[in-house]
Formats: sequence, C-alpha cells, structure tokens
Amino acid sequence: MSLWRKIVKTGRVAEPAPEREPTEIPDKAAELGGSLQIRHVDAGSCNGCEVEIAAAFGPVHDAERYGARLVASPRHADALLVTGPVTRNMKTALRRTYEAVPEPRMVVALGDCARDCGIFKGAYGVVGAVSDVVPVDVEVPGCPPPPEAIVAALRGLTGR
Ligand code: SF4
Repeated sequence: MSLWRKIVKTGRVAEPAPEREPTEIPDKAAELGGSLQIRHVDAGSCNGCEVEIAAAFGPVHDAERYGARLVASPRHADALLVTGPVTRNMKTALRRTYEAVPEPRMVVALGDCARDCGIFKGAYGVVGAVSDVVPVDVEVPGCPPPPEAIVAALRGLTGR
C-alpha cells in the first residue's frame, strides 16, 4: 500500500479536542498570541514525566494543535518546561538556560519533583525545587502528571 493511501485510510487518530478550562491567561502568555515555543529541561527527573510529555505531544493528545511546540534551543523558546528536582549538576545549567530564553519568558514546573522535590526531597544530590533556582509561572502537579493535565496546562498559556 502506498504511503498516501495508508494515510487516507488511517485518518485522524487524535482524540477530539476537549473544552478548554476557562482559566485566565497570564499576561506574559497573552502577549504571545496563542503560540508557545517550549524548551524542555530535565533538571533531575526519573524520566517518568518525560514519558508523559512524549504522550502529550504524541498523535493521540497532540498538544501542537493548541499552539504549543517543543523546540531545540532556549533561544527559540518562549517558555521552559522543567521536570525533576534540581540536582547539583543541573543548577547552573538550568539558570543559564533560563537566561538564554528571550523576554517575556515563562517557566512551567512539571510534576511533583519540580514543584517541591517530591520523593527526592532531602536527597544529597538535590539543591531544591525549580522555584528555588528560577521563577516559576505555572505548576503542574502529579507524579507524573498525565498527558491530559500537561495539555490543559499548556492550553492555559496558549488560550486555545
Ligand atoms: S514527579 Fe514522579 S515521575 Fe516526575 S520526575 Fe518526579 S518521581 Fe519521576
């Protein structure tokens, strides 16, 4: 079967778009006009949150249809999506990555570890939560947060 025929036969696999929660869009996000370029930073995650991010941007949940897109460089980004507690080895890297994002920059702390160190609280290699190193605009709770919660948080920034 040709690729084209296979695409036509398969059709759309994404879930129907759920209603957006009627939350107020932060001022910094409103400036971006519904388009949000995101640089992901793993500051010390167990990789569970990354699996859910992959699902959020996969074909079923398809976060890109709401204007959110992952990019490879902080210089191309509007926001950082940070996972994990901040480890000693990642503190400076996170700070520098944050400074490389152009204004108005935002930070999304994704998962309980990013919010308050979660199960890694007090571990010898951990310096603190994401908000101890860079300012945080949005927190997404959960260990790990499901893709629906990740998509809902990103839609809260794009307004779509
Ligand atoms: S919140 Fe849970 S899944 Fe995410 S990095 Fe921490 S332990 Fe792993």
